[in-house]
Amino acid sequence: MSTRSQQLPELGQDSGREYRLGIMGGTFDPIHYGHLVTAEQAREALNLDLVLFMPAGSPAFKQDRTVTSPEDRYAMTVLATAANPAFYASRFEIDRPGVTYTVDTLKALRAHYPANVRLYFITGADAILDIVSWHDAASIASLATLIAATRPGYDIEQAQARIARSGIHFDVRYIQIPALAISSTNIRDRVRLGKSARYLTSESVIGYMHKNGLYRMPVPEG
Ligand code: NAP
Repeated sequence: MSTRSQQLPELGQDSGREYRLGIMGGTFDPIHYGHLVTAEQAREALNLDLVLFMPAGSPAFKQDRTVTSPEDRYAMTVLATAANPAFYASRFEIDRPGVTYTVDTLKALRAHYPANVRLYFITGADAILDIVSWHDAASIASLATLIAATRPGYDIEQAQARIARSGIHFDVRYIQIPALAISSTNIRDRVRLGKSARYLTSESVIGYMHKNGLYRMPVPEG
């Protein structure tokens, strides 16, 4: 498997210390402030040196529905993350053909970075809840610490019990993110209905959505 090193920022040069790499995985259709706050608070809480925003190319659990093109989702991710020097928008998954499996990404990153770089995979707690059914879940558990972003009121104990029943030892850290009341689904619905998405995501992302006609109501034929 190619590691496409040209797409990955350098990390781990000083072998005398540990580096922590966050991998922010999501469909990002579109990226919004909930995602950005999640990454920033994970970075702070876990002392991450860098967070790679990794839009999924062809999300494993979304093979039955239409997802906005990878290039549009990546472009919005670049725009939204541009101002933070600790954030890096990555083409790593969108350039990989076929269904996107997190285990493939983590294996490739593990092969690319030296051993003093630890991997932290960050995503929504609802997605993490399903992790026991993800492709090669046992390898994921051995490759990365998981950071699960929860919305307020989320039942962490139920999630922990379900993951424990799998018999695989996952190292999961839960962080509560009030801004995750924002959701991509809600933004898509608002735009489709001609409502404002302002202040739910960055002005640059809103500009991109409008300029490229994303999420608009399909024009009826005939
Ligand atoms: P999803 O099912 O669309 O999202 C579940 C929930 O988590 C939604 O409420 C979503 O809100 C939220 N969420 C998603 N990504 C988030 C993030 N980075 N930070 C905070 N909240 C987030 O999940 P998905 O986007 O398809 O997948 C999430 C990640 O898990 C991706 O990296 C995907 O590749 C990986 N995954 C891997 C497998 C596999 O390897 N078999 C299977 C499933 C998912 P929003 O809709 O507002 O984002």
